[in-house]
Amino acid sequence: MRILIANDDGIFSPGIKALAFALRELGEVNVVAPDVEQSGVGHSITFRRPLRFKHTASAGFGEIPAYRVDGTPADCVVLGAQLLGQPDLVVSGINIGSNMGLDLTHSGTVAAALEGASIGVPSIAFSLDAAGEELRFEEAARNALPIARWVLEHGLPSKTLLNVNFPNHPPLGIQLTRLSTRRYEDSIVEREDPDGRPYYWVAGKPSGELEEGTDFWAVSNGFISVTPVSLDYTNHTLLKKLEAEEPFSGEKGGIKTD
Ligand code: MN
Repeated sequence: MRILIANDDGIFSPGIKALAFALRELGEVNVVAPDVEQSGVGHSITFRRPLRFKHTASAGFGEIPAYRVDGTPADCVVLGAQLLGQPDLVVSGINIGSNMGLDLTHSGTVAAALEGASIGVPSIAFSLDAAGEELRFEEAARNALPIARWVLEHGLPSKTLLNVNFPNHPPLGIQLTRLSTRRYEDSIVEREDPDGRPYYWVAGKPSGELEEGTDFWAVSNGFISVTPVSLDYTNHTLLKKLEAEEPFSGEKGGIKTD
């Protein structure tokens, strides 16, 4: 079994190291990760400049082959799958900080798994809720192992990934969840530079109701959250409804073509 591990925190992150060592017992592990942190880049792909793919012995992976790329998390999966052979499993993380709810739309960690799913490989994104002083990557990686083993043995439906978030303390168990829709509030912080001109931080804390059954709810209550996520962005309910509506219905709809 060939396992490709990527992340968005960069090849020197302790999270990817813990994950790579923990998953070694499942098969041949290759690490392909960005050379610098790429958190928040989402699913962007680099195609206007060339990329480097460099074997990196100094990142502390021991016998595990590790490569760094001067690109995005999705670039790492594209290059890793092409240059090292199609993997049986793509995993991403373990990210420093949770990736839940609407975070998925910006997350580089999740994007690496989305890229894996989009090239037809069962994929998992792992993130650790970074609350607290000491980050418990070793424990999270140990708990990632049975999840990765299950996916290797059973596969996943096409264009689907698992999004996994660990609490930063001994978990009470696993909860299967749906994505929450909590929003960030006070998301702009304004400061002043030395010349008195304003600059801005995009920051903020999640707010809103903690709905039972969601990823936020599970992690807040001490559980590991596992959410199946689909690459099918189509809203099938609305699609059906629009089929009966002007200007969408009929052979040409309401659109004039002459
Ligand atoms: Mn990150």
